[in-house]
Amino acid sequence: MKVVYLDFDKYQYDVHSLFKAFYPDEEVMVLVGKRGELQEKEAKIKDTDEIFTINNIETIEKNDLKKQIYTVLSEKTGKQLPWGNLTGIRPTRIAMNLLEEGKSDVEVTDYMKNTYFVSDEKLDLCLEIAHREQEILKDIDYENGYSLYIGIPFCPTTCLYCSFTSYPIGAFKNLVDEYLCCLEKEIDYVAENFKGKTLDTVYIGGGTPTTLEPAQLERLIGYLKDKLDFSHVKEFTVESGRPDSITRDKLKVMKKLGVDRISVNPQTMNDETLKLIGRRHDVKQLIDAFNMAREEGFDNINMDIILGLPGETSVEVSHTIDEIIRLGPDDLTVHSLAIKRGSRLYEVLHEKEIKGELKVPILSSINNTASMMEIAASGARKMGLTPYYLYRQKNISGNFENTGYARKGKAGIYNILINEEVQSIVALGAGTVTKRVYGNGRIERCDNVKDVKLYMEGIEEMIERKKELFK
Ligand code: SF4
Repeated sequence: MKVVYLDFDKYQYDVHSLFKAFYPDEEVMVLVGKRGELQEKEAKIKDTDEIFTINNIETIEKNDLKKQIYTVLSEKTGKQLPWGNLTGIRPTRIAMNLLEEGKSDVEVTDYMKNTYFVSDEKLDLCLEIAHREQEILKDIDYENGYSLYIGIPFCPTTCLYCSFTSYPIGAFKNLVDEYLCCLEKEIDYVAENFKGKTLDTVYIGGGTPTTLEPAQLERLIGYLKDKLDFSHVKEFTVESGRPDSITRDKLKVMKKLGVDRISVNPQTMNDETLKLIGRRHDVKQLIDAFNMAREEGFDNINMDIILGLPGETSVEVSHTIDEIIRLGPDDLTVHSLAIKRGSRLYEVLHEKEIKGELKVPILSSINNTASMMEIAASGARKMGLTPYYLYRQKNISGNFENTGYARKGKAGIYNILINEEVQSIVALGAGTVTKRVYGNGRIERCDNVKDVKLYMEGIEEMIERKKELFK
């Protein structure tokens, strides 16, 4: 374990994240106070732990502190981090803001290099995306517009790595109609309170919205279109992530009601890995679902893949990319997986490993690498897709990023809006988060509870909270 002492209660989160980026496989403990005076916490420290002390942080600027820590740790470990000392999740936003202030590419590059030590490669990516985002968002009315998110928190089964609000549909089937009633109440609230505002994008996500039966999908989308003004909607997405939830009837309903973007997510094109991560579908089902969506006329299909999956090396990633190139989606999102100790997936793999059921020592091969990122990036470009948004996660595998690539004119506008936090997003359904973005960039949030039953019981209160937020 790495133990860091800070002499002042400031920047703890940033210091922790930066140490973690240098020591991803180790536990990091940040303590505020003097060494020897924090008895209870210090009782956890062992003789083998390495101790760092950082003084005078009350007076230092955050960026200067991070620069100093980065320099020391970089010398000590011999590592250069691709994103330098940046610990935030939206590096493109820094570049976007600077461009909007009128700075040139050279000025943005110099600033990000000197302040954050970002690598040349990531700087190029960041600037390319910032310019593309500016172009895509140029017609969006931040002040008078809004976007809508609807969460369907059900999935065919729960993937072992899932970190979203998701319940297996089998056990919740008889609650779905009541859940839709609650969504309708929230839609009524939106119709009443956002009159005169422009609805720019609509995103139905989850979970897996296509766990709904065709009639339920028709009911939900029909209600939405009935109550809200869709005349300015630039993009209407329904995540159809799990191929085992997609049927021709559902695709027909969505197409008929104007859904113009869907996602069909493989995560990997290797059956063995799909089994390991609990996806409960195979590659063939994915290919069939994708082809069926094309047959039904969907010309904007997104695919999500994950790098760093257990047991996968560059060989498996190359295979996944080759198969995806064959299908030719319009949008590809490349995620880096971080399997944390204690997570469900980690425990399951660990158990299998102990029982000798795994061919390779999986727990030592759950990291994304630069070469896998490169395979995915060059595959995307080979298909004519260019990067249009990126975000980072805490403890992301390999300290990399998640990147969305799209064909010209097919980029997911909602993805950029939620990532850059430049427009208010009204979110309906269990476990969703509504964000109000003010003109000066200030953001206020209000959360709907995650538990489906509590959400349904407390629906009036959820609506009241939104009223309060937007009053
Ligand atoms: S499909 Fe997505 S939301 Fe559903 S269980 Fe799997 S990871 Fe979670």
